[in-house]
Amino acid sequence: MTVANQNLKDQIRKLVDLQVMDEEIFRFKRELREKPAELEALKSEFESKKTTLKGLEDKLKAIQVVQKELELDLKVKEEGISKADGSLSLLKTNKEYQARLLEIENMKADRSIVEEKILLGYDEVDAARKALEAEKITVVQYEKEFNAKKKQVDDDVAVIGDQLKVKESQRSRVTPEIRPDYLSRYERILNNKDGLGIVKVVDSSCGGCFMHLTEQVLNELKKYEQIIACDMCARILYLADDL
Ligand SMILES: [Zn+2]
Repeated sequence: MTVANQNLKDQIRKLVDLQVMDEEIFRFKRELREKPAELEALKSEFESKKTTLKGLEDKLKAIQVVQKELELDLKVKEEGISKADGSLSLLKTNKEYQARLLEIENMKADRSIVEEKILLGYDEVDAARKALEAEKITVVQYEKEFNAKKKQVDDDVAVIGDQLKVKESQRSRVTPEIRPDYLSRYERILNNKDGLGIVKVVDSSCGGCFMHLTEQVLNELKKYEQIIACDMCARILYLADDL
């Protein structure tokens, strides 16, 4: 084998080393991209629980406002009744007296209706408070769960980030040893073909796309005169037994 052939073989060996690192680099980068998505489902659940909580708070407030209005109404009605009661002694005829008594009866009936509403309102306030307290507990639980998961994801991201840095620094020590035209060709395929730029031949087929290789291609590979790529997927090919 000539020096040139030996050099090419050596370059291919270095590309294979690079490929091992790049597979890890691709994996780390993919994990970094996908990690935050693990939080999404939990986050939207947490947000929806918070929205429910806000709804229950608003509901309680609305019931309390109605309750206040009813209490005010009751006060007005009671004042009216006692005023009418006080006026009875001032009436001169029996007819007027009977008429006023009937009026008072009607006013008292109205008051009963308001009192009834207030009592029902107490139950509503009670139920709304209970629902609110229960939801608060749920929200706290979700918050805890979310924060724990977020911490785990943040920790994972930090670890993967460190691993990526180490790998990239290892890679940067190998790349200067590879011919720039080989390197750029390899990197172009790497980025276009899911992080796989150079593949070994497996059972006379391309290890990337599994297309069967012709005798001619296999013979060319053994010569180490030039870089040989798969006709189908363009990935650089190598013979693992040769290296
Ligand atoms: Zn192929």
